[in-house]
Amino acid sequence: MRPGLEHLVLKWLREEDPERLEALWTAADRVRAEFVGEAVHLRGLLEISNYCVRQCAYCGLRAGRVALDRYRMSEEEVLEGAKLAAHLGFGTVVLQSGEDYGISTAWMAEIIRRIKEDTSLAVTLSLGERPESDLRAWRAAGADRYLLRFETSDADLYHRIHPPIQTGVTVERTVLLRTLRALGYEIGSGVMVGIPGQSYGSLARDILLFQALDLDMIGIGPFIPHPGTPLGRQEAAGALSPREQVPNSETMVCKVLALARLLCPEANIPSTTALAVVNPDDGHRLGLSRGANVVMPNLTPPVYRKMYEIYPKKACIDDDLWALAGLRRKIESLGRSVGKGPGGRLRRGAAADIQVELPAHCG
Ligand code: SAH
Repeated sequence: MRPGLEHLVLKWLREEDPERLEALWTAADRVRAEFVGEAVHLRGLLEISNYCVRQCAYCGLRAGRVALDRYRMSEEEVLEGAKLAAHLGFGTVVLQSGEDYGISTAWMAEIIRRIKEDTSLAVTLSLGERPESDLRAWRAAGADRYLLRFETSDADLYHRIHPPIQTGVTVERTVLLRTLRALGYEIGSGVMVGIPGQSYGSLARDILLFQALDLDMIGIGPFIPHPGTPLGRQEAAGALSPREQVPNSETMVCKVLALARLLCPEANIPSTTALAVVNPDDGHRLGLSRGANVVMPNLTPPVYRKMYEIYPKKACIDDDLWALAGLRRKIESLGRSVGKGPGGRLRRGAAADIQVELPAHCG
């Protein structure tokens, strides 16, 4: 790590002057254009199950929410969804779920095999902390990428909001990410911005960790309180002074996104649904012009969407075909094009070896 980098990242996170921030947005957009180009890759998201064994204090799918109706898509429904993604011209399907052990190793492997047989899609999995044997089997079946956010690099805060299922048995997500990489997956991780108890210093370290892990994909979105969760009711919140507490604002998310782009120039970075929830009219455009190069339209069958409310209002972002046409127009109006093919990471070198200068901070 370059000396002084953490300090500089921290200064940018604290910057509030709109004119100075323009310099950050411009630098991120320039580096995005140089390293990943003008293509915006669309990844079709299928939320295949909302069963979950975990008790994450932030998430609306947590096991403790007994009133929530649970579903698991059938093999045929998942295949139909993947075919729809291919039909729409997307290059990737993302299969996401709660941590659901009803998703068996063999069932998932068979679905991955069939998607790879029937389409030319890249397959991304986001199924939580599964044992290495599952990850190995799914990779052998053809899965290309795995998303697992570390949520925050602050160990105390992480363990408070993401308790282990079995007392004393903790899986470190960063260790799992390294395992995934060794198995040959492209790896994605990321954080929520504005978790109660998240300090500026820890957020700066999150961004440096993106670089140290040399992530292929980085997902960044605002923390959105869910009233059915302890964190949404402020119960698991750490007490931080207002000066230390990171806000879950749109601008703060954009700062993290822009800094992630500058420190990890080659990464695929989505303009996330959570950002679009905070700003339905302009969230995607802002994300795409401040470092992002990916959007993940939701292709989950409408009957299941409202049961996959990891945070409120998520199901209101309806990615129907009409919205998709609007998204394509938005991409073109930014002078960008819709990406073709799987859109994997184009690798020139490890993130830490690509020396992109952060704009100097003169505050
Ligand atoms: N079970 C999988 C997928 C979880 S959903 C896993 O744990 O990896 C994907 C992401 O949604 C999470 O990693 C988290 O960063 C985000 N998320 C969950 N609850 C949220 C909330 N209340 N506000 C914003 N993002 C949230």
